[in-house]
Amino acid sequence: MIRGPVAEISLSSIAHNLHIVQRIVKSRPVIAVVKAGAYGHGAVEVSKRLLTEGIACLAVAYTGEAKELREAGINIPVIVLFDRGDIRDYFDFHLIPVVYNLDAAAALSDEAGKRDTVIKIHVKIDTGMGRLGLNGNHAVDDLMKISEMPGLEIAGLLSHFSEADLSDRSYAISQIERFHAVREAISKKLRRKIFSHIANSAAVLAFEDAYLDAVRPGLMLYGYSPFHESRALRAEGEEAEESQRGLIPAMMIKTRILCIRNVPAGEPISYGRTFVTKRPSRIGVTALGYADGYSRHFSNNAEVLVKGKRAPVVGRVCMDLTMIDLTDIVEAGQNDEVVVLGQQGNESITADELARRANTISYEILTSLGSRSKRIYVETH
Ligand SMILES: *Cc1c(COP(=O)(O)O)cnc(C)c1O
Repeated sequence: MIRGPVAEISLSSIAHNLHIVQRIVKSRPVIAVVKAGAYGHGAVEVSKRLLTEGIACLAVAYTGEAKELREAGINIPVIVLFDRGDIRDYFDFHLIPVVYNLDAAAALSDEAGKRDTVIKIHVKIDTGMGRLGLNGNHAVDDLMKISEMPGLEIAGLLSHFSEADLSDRSYAISQIERFHAVREAISKKLRRKIFSHIANSAAVLAFEDAYLDAVRPGLMLYGYSPFHESRALRAEGEEAEESQRGLIPAMMIKTRILCIRNVPAGEPISYGRTFVTKRPSRIGVTALGYADGYSRHFSNNAEVLVKGKRAPVVGRVCMDLTMIDLTDIVEAGQNDEVVVLGQQGNESITADELARRANTISYEILTSLGSRSKRIYVETH
């Protein structure tokens, strides 16, 4: 028996979600973002599946992640979004660096010279995210300088929206305008079009003008819409359904009831005695804790599913254990399955629900729970 949480990852759901993306963007190439272990779903397995479903390219944050994909035999283009790390890796593993300053470009050019080769790069433009990228008025000049460096081929141009959920649409529009301006200026100077991409999940869902030559979604592939965070407080029902667009969450987190204790009224539960039973209660102790990525913010502030019913978390979440109130679920017994994230019977707990309770976003819920659980892969439909 496995004790401690297990992440059940549905690869068929991920394939389904990719097909939704492909349908929305009318078969433009999809650059699948699989950084942070495919948002906690496991980069290698997810990438392999996405590959068989027809993606053009993968994107990760660090060269280390890209190496892992290469070592697993994945040979399609991999874009490394952030890390400059050891630049030899880009050449040794045939990776595509995202270049966001002149220093990085010069270093790559030197290395290409040493190896007597040409490396394809994608250049990032900061259009208002304020994070990485060639910036403002210098962007075109800098791009020209990069284009003149030997050993570099500018194979792509990208930027990133600062609104993951497009809550300020006018800002996103100004970003795309800036991106177009740079793109057009450089295309004119170089007398060729440069493959360009900017669309994250939010843009795929709601901003057709941003599709350009390829789209670059992450979250959607895992079955969630970024819109829930901003709108969740306002509308849970129909609007949430609508922005879900048929996406199916791919991650389920399950654990077990280690034991059930019958306690009288007035009994404090867990560290700090933040919960005291109001009635004679059946308290389940589950194999789940903050070391498993189940945030301490869920103390007295979340529910799990047992026998298809919602059981409240009572008291503080501990490192490896969490207590739940099973008083109203009389059929629950030791060793029963506890669903922390996902569906059981007619009930389900989504990453959006947990995010709302922990005052964060679904991205963080998925990466925290997914990365720290033992993962198994399933086909669900
Ligand atoms: C994470 C990331 C994405 C994907 O964003 P989602 O909101 O998950 O679709 C796209 N581009 C860059 C540069 C990113 O860092």
